Amino acid sequence: TQWVYSFGAGRNEGRADMRNLLGGKGANLAEMASIGLPVPPGFTITTEVCTWYYQNSESYPADLEDQVKAGLARVEQAVGNKFGDHHKPLLVSVRSGARASMPGMMDTVLNLGLNDATVEGLVAASGDARFAWDSYRRFIQMFGSVVLDVDHHRFEEIIEHIKLDTGKIDDTELTASEWHRVVDGYKEMVREVTGKPFPQDPWDQLWGAIGAVFGSWMNQRAITYRRLNDIPAEWGTAVNVQAMVFGNMGDDCATGVCFTRDPSTGENVFYGEYLVNAQGEDVVAGIRTPQPMSKERAKPGEKPMEEVMPGAYAELVKVRQTLERHYADMQDIEFTVQSNKLYMLQTRNGKRTAAASLKIAVDMAQEGLIDHAEAVKRVNPAALDQLLHPTLDPKAPRKHLSKGLPASPGAASGIVVFSADEAEARAQKGESVILVRIETSPEDIHGMHAAKGILTTRGGMTSHAAVVARGMGRPCVAGCGGVSVDYNNQVLSSGGIQVRGGEILTIDGGTGEVFVGSVAMVEPQLSGDFATLMGWADEVRRLKVRANAETPLDAETARKFGAEGIGLCRTEHMFFDPERIGAVRQMIMAETESGRRVALSRLLPFQRQDFVDLFRIMTGLPVTIRLLDPPLHEFLPHTDYEIAEVAKSLGADVDAMHRRAQELSEANPMLGHRGCRLGISFPEIYEMQARAIFEAACQIGKETHKAPHPEIMIPLVATKRELEITRAQVDRVAQEVFAELDYHVEYSVGTMIELPRAALTADAIAETADFFSFGTNDLTQTTFGLSRDDAGKFLPLYVEKGIFPKDPFVSIDPDGVGALVKIASEKGRRVKSGLKLGICGEHGGDPSSITFCESVGLDYVSCSPYRVPVARLAAAQAAL
Ligand code: ADP
Ligand code: MG
Ligand code: MG
Repeated sequence: TQWVYSFGAGRNEGRADMRNLLGGKGANLAEMASIGLPVPPGFTITTEVCTWYYQNSESYPADLEDQVKAGLARVEQAVGNKFGDHHKPLLVSVRSGARASMPGMMDTVLNLGLNDATVEGLVAASGDARFAWDSYRRFIQMFGSVVLDVDHHRFEEIIEHIKLDTGKIDDTELTASEWHRVVDGYKEMVREVTGKPFPQDPWDQLWGAIGAVFGSWMNQRAITYRRLNDIPAEWGTAVNVQAMVFGNMGDDCATGVCFTRDPSTGENVFYGEYLVNAQGEDVVAGIRTPQPMSKERAKPGEKPMEEVMPGAYAELVKVRQTLERHYADMQDIEFTVQSNKLYMLQTRNGKRTAAASLKIAVDMAQEGLIDHAEAVKRVNPAALDQLLHPTLDPKAPRKHLSKGLPASPGAASGIVVFSADEAEARAQKGESVILVRIETSPEDIHGMHAAKGILTTRGGMTSHAAVVARGMGRPCVAGCGGVSVDYNNQVLSSGGIQVRGGEILTIDGGTGEVFVGSVAMVEPQLSGDFATLMGWADEVRRLKVRANAETPLDAETARKFGAEGIGLCRTEHMFFDPERIGAVRQMIMAETESGRRVALSRLLPFQRQDFVDLFRIMTGLPVTIRLLDPPLHEFLPHTDYEIAEVAKSLGADVDAMHRRAQELSEANPMLGHRGCRLGISFPEIYEMQARAIFEAACQIGKETHKAPHPEIMIPLVATKRELEITRAQVDRVAQEVFAELDYHVEYSVGTMIELPRAALTADAIAETADFFSFGTNDLTQTTFGLSRDDAGKFLPLYVEKGIFPKDPFVSIDPDGVGALVKIASEKGRRVKSGLKLGICGEHGGDPSSITFCESVGLDYVSCSPYRVPVARLAAAQAAL
């Protein structure tokens, strides 16, 4: 088996499409080298070795060692230096790289190969003793913390001690001999902590580092990240071993990180940061302030690379173009300049905000780099959600606190918490939190995930907080230096204003501003690129998208977002209004039909007006109205006051009402007296609703000459007979109303398929139904025998343990619930080829469920108004 793949110096055994085997970093290093970009030579140990390692009690395949030796020999030859050589030592970096990028999960070891002898060789070869000793101490520090597990504070203490001793403040002030002293201190400390001397043999160092990379695949941080991002543990990581180039060998050297377009806004500008005379993670570590790339983006006093290193910059600009043309996507690149010569160390598709992903997709299609369909595929429907969320109302009053970097857009308000654990705990209780940290690290990811927004006081646009927040779609203000954070006293302060933990803070990740208290927000912009992309999505999509809406406001929002009708109007939601609930209770509690009719006649005008409003907003579009469905239980009066009220309205006595409430209460309301069972035992209820619908439809038809086409939906049908009875009632009322008003509208009557029995007998039911709408919330409950209202106690555990791959109420369970949907669709269409099929559960707005709906051939999905654009895009992607 080939376990090792070389790249650079004319031998490229890998390609970009081999990321499963080589990891993203290794695959792209090989790809860059093969298109002629300057990549220091090296080799990649495959992810299969990682898998082997864990399947064979953390050992390696027998022939790995020889392949690594051969790989390294090729690097030696290409560079002209030798590993462990005392005069011209080859130094390498050891870097992890999984299939999917996992920022900050695995730490890189640089300058490997240095020891007490080779450091002298580096002094001689570079002519720079300070550089050589600084490199050596960096190596011991990285190797010590990553491989030997020595606490990084122990290293910092030693540097601090020497600084105190010499009266120096900055790392850059330390001389060669002072770094030499640091190295001695490090070695002594490492021996003390680990009980062994620091490894001097470069091969021991190399195998130690390789083992640490594989070992880190199973550390807690990596496991958490994988869980949050749905990355399977079986994928494994690759290890990249690569010749070092030095960005820290003087003022004609530098290192940097940049994006080929602005990852926050998507603007087509070269965007990034670099540092002169620096190595590796210095740029993101926040020790020195990184400088901008281009003159155009530089603020007064800053030193853009374009000015400081024009030659290397010009070359980088060319690389930027080459990479974008080659990958046809925005790239996130890492580079180093050694003695004015540019080297590329990494490229990958750049993480970006939702806004940027939209703009980049539309721009690239307009630039001809990709076609419309590809642009549609590029935008993650779930991320689109972010763009649909409110931003700060520019006119709203606000109390300014401070300003940091606009690291990830969107506005958020919430209570201040200072730790990731507290963020998670309070979010679980349903609170909105802003996580405030001096800086974040991979240990904070769960808290960042739980928070509505993130504020850090240190770090730049490429700091951990910024990168992770953008990836997660959380608003983030980073590097807000004007705020100081006191973890001990749980308080932050700025300019004399203090905000304590538990108080409210608002951040605007689009501007970097931070405000005390909450600030009013406004609706998002739906024109421009958004409309363009949606237009392209609509061109390719087959599934129609409707909305679940009852109120005029929801219906208007839905139309604005492009809904093609209402797929579910839940009439019971119209009854919670305080004006109406009294009449509803009166209806439920009445013991006779005539008592119920009195109450229903009070409800009729309300109900009719509701439909008039909906039909008017939805002119020309279908509206599906579900007749009363909920367990009556939900509407029962509870308090003594409520019972007394109902008693009064019915002219009954209070004790009798208590008894009646008792009588009506159910042990298992979700499987109780609800849905069509209500319509059958109390036909006057559905009669009233049908009357309200038809009267409203006629009224609008007369007014606008565009008669609506109501689709009346009977819930919780298990047998054909139930639908026959209820349908007959509806048809009868329709004829009555049409005769009374001397007007006529087209309408259809269908049913929800939300019980397994209905799905299994859908052929029979279809004989009576004009359409089916899959009520996947109830269908999931009834298929799993799992109460949605009680599942919270164990469902998260089930998902965590992988018993359920996903929460089945969020994403449709294709094997069980999905199978029923499929059976019902096929049986239904066999009886009636034109039977209209839709879905109206929460799943209607979930991209992977929408993919499922496309595969079954449903006609439409219906979801909450804010999810409509998400569903339009997901439906388009499902069709591609
Ligand atoms: P991460 O996955 O965290 O980005 P990398 O493996 O990319 O880790 O390494 C981090 C940084 O280390 C790189 O951006 C680069 O600056 C530096 N680095 C890695 N390999 C080399 C090398 N061969 N020469 C010089 N610098 C390197
Ligand atoms: Mg790293
Ligand atoms: Mg990197």
